[in-house]
Amino acid sequence: MDQRVFVSKEEIERQMALCDRLHCEIAPRGLRFYIETFGCQMNVRDSETMKGILARMGYAEAESKEQADLILFNTCCVRDHAEKRLMGNIGALKELKESNPALIIGICGCMMQQKGMAERMLKRFPHVSLIFGPNVVFRLPEMLERVLNGERVRMTDEEHFAIAEGLPRVRDNVRSAFVNITYGCNNYCTYCIVPFVRGRERSRDYEDIRAEVESLCAEGITEITLLGQNVNSYANDLPEGSFAELLYKLNDVPGLKRLRFMSSHPKDLTDDVIRAIAENDKVCHHVHLPVQSGSNEILKRMNRKYTREQYLEIIRKLRKAIPDIEFTTDIIVGFPGETEEMFQETMSLVREVGYAAAFTFAYSPRFGTAAAKMADQIPEDVKKRRLYELNALQAEKTVENNAEYVGAVGELLVEGCDQRTDETMLYGKFRNFKMVYFAGKPEQLNQYVTVRVLRTSKNSLIGEQVESNNG
Ligand code: SAM
Ligand code: SF4
Repeated sequence: MDQRVFVSKEEIERQMALCDRLHCEIAPRGLRFYIETFGCQMNVRDSETMKGILARMGYAEAESKEQADLILFNTCCVRDHAEKRLMGNIGALKELKESNPALIIGICGCMMQQKGMAERMLKRFPHVSLIFGPNVVFRLPEMLERVLNGERVRMTDEEHFAIAEGLPRVRDNVRSAFVNITYGCNNYCTYCIVPFVRGRERSRDYEDIRAEVESLCAEGITEITLLGQNVNSYANDLPEGSFAELLYKLNDVPGLKRLRFMSSHPKDLTDDVIRAIAENDKVCHHVHLPVQSGSNEILKRMNRKYTREQYLEIIRKLRKAIPDIEFTTDIIVGFPGETEEMFQETMSLVREVGYAAAFTFAYSPRFGTAAAKMADQIPEDVKKRRLYELNALQAEKTVENNAEYVGAVGELLVEGCDQRTDETMLYGKFRNFKMVYFAGKPEQLNQYVTVRVLRTSKNSLIGEQVESNNG
């Protein structure tokens, strides 16, 4: 049954009308905002919406915190590390607030949705005047109006986790964009805080996704990354549709050249998704397929709902159907109860799969999750050593993987520029996510260029331009 809750059109219109009203006050004063984003692509996407709302309110974007009248920290709480960095950052702003009492400092994002966190932050940092969770971004105009009137505002969402459509957005990237297809997560992996702070999984309507992709492509975007904590379970809460169907349906959007998606949960990566990747020419040949561990015992304790053997079978099927496919993954070491033997099972899986890249993490206990209460927590020095060993292995595997590309010719979307003393090195990705560097000109940024890979250098591929192919 469809249990989704939507923010009403009238409510969005009310918030936008408030933006327009405040614009007359804010724009003439030349007020500027600065947003610092921590964490994953979801947060990057949320920050784009906040920038869109603030621009509509008349704020311009500042280049640094020192120049800003409003500073927002969009936070992450997936690991302890991100939290520690945030605390340091907020503490450091005390002086700035003292020299500019009109400065508004706000904290938003997942960490603020954690139980009791908002209250603790307001108490600990008196110079912070705005706190809100990731599910109430659409109410930013109303919250800011209250802050501008001298109130300290705290707003989180404990029940609705409603879907808000039709909000403005400002993008920094002119070629590539993220599009949410689901919000939240139902999986409750025992180590993970996400379902508690982002709520239960909600799928967006196909028509809304299609309209967003079409309008982005009409503006010149050619690469879209569909976002969800588990994109494969898209439409599980809708009367019809599936992720595979979505890929088929989006493949014909005019102007679209590359369709990416992340993350894929292995338990839901079915044969029809494999077929959809193989059969749709815009869908890129890269799957980010987080494995988390190579040990069946640990996978069970993590509540991942697949075995090592099932995971390897999916990899085998994908490689058979799409020979040039590349895989990336996420791995956690030092999960409670992980013995040396179990860790070695992760190492052997990494050897067996041959990932193009792996994002590796030491297990970080998150308050409120099941794993934080498990016995046999692993000492920090053991986690650190395992992480080091795993990273060393993956570095070897990356070198091996890179070596296979020498001589390959393919199209890159140029996404960055590395100005060296003697030449400009540009970099971009093949359709299957492999990154290549080549000597070029800064004006080629955001263009499509065909390159031939000449050699490998440490972790990267170095190529030369064969032709430019701008679309
Ligand atoms: N939904 C995505 C999935 O299941 O693949 C990932 C979301 S999470 C933001 C990104 C990664 O952070 C996870 O895949 C996991 O490897 C890592 N992670 C999550 N909770 C963690 C924890 N408590 N300690 C260490 N790493 C964690
Ligand atoms: Fe967290 Fe698991 Fe959901 Fe990913 S699938 S967000 S790791 S609970």
